[in-house]
Amino acid sequence: MSLKERVDLVEQRISEACRRSGRNRNEVNVIAVTKYVSGAMTESVLNEGIRHIGENRWQTAEEKWRTLGERGVWHFIGHLQSNKVKDVIGKFSYIHSLDRLSLAKELERKAQALNMRVSAFLQVNISGESSKYGLQPEETADFLREIRAYKHIDVIGLMTMAPFESSAEDTRPVFRGLRQLRDELNRQALTPEPMTELSMGMSNDFEVAVEEGATWVRLGSILVGKEEE
Ligand SMILES: *Cc1c(COP(=O)(O)O)cnc(C)c1O
Repeated sequence: MSLKERVDLVEQRISEACRRSGRNRNEVNVIAVTKYVSGAMTESVLNEGIRHIGENRWQTAEEKWRTLGERGVWHFIGHLQSNKVKDVIGKFSYIHSLDRLSLAKELERKAQALNMRVSAFLQVNISGESSKYGLQPEETADFLREIRAYKHIDVIGLMTMAPFESSAEDTRPVFRGLRQLRDELNRQALTPEPMTELSMGMSNDFEVAVEEGATWVRLGSILVGKEEE
């Protein structure tokens, strides 16, 4: 399948998931996850009109960002070490993996130094798998209280990764759980503005995530394919 055909197919499947769940198609943003593919492929993705690019390591993103940075909006979706904040700050508009206080402190410090703001998602481990990063759901309210004073970080929503399931339907409780957690945190009014965003759904399970309220789906293999490094 060509890239164009994959883009069209993903578009059609998102539209159908929106229709099934009574959602508006324009509530769902697509992030093309280019961590498996070359700069040339990333450029082709941008040429298809997809603006949001996701990478999980600065090391694999750097060259792409240096040549294509201006053309896209960059999302950092992987585990972020505090000593890498200096590399990604100001380049990635969105950090999807805010999962600990030490990282929040470093983001705040670097964003303040540059006199800019960074948009972040709290990564939450809804499934409880020990292999997954993320705050435990019951830690999130205190976490938001603690970083309330950090004026250079806008927490706009929550992010999670579902376990890989052979049947995508089995991921539904995880996505529903993230949405319910966001709604509950909003009821407690722990952020200056209510959190509107949910970053959830990957190649294997994005339709279920859309049905459950995803506003950002992160699509790698199904959309841009996978190339050998
Ligand atoms: C790699 C990755 C994705 C995309 O994975 P696919 O299954 O190829 O769509 C999405 N989110 C995160 C956090 C990732 O690391």
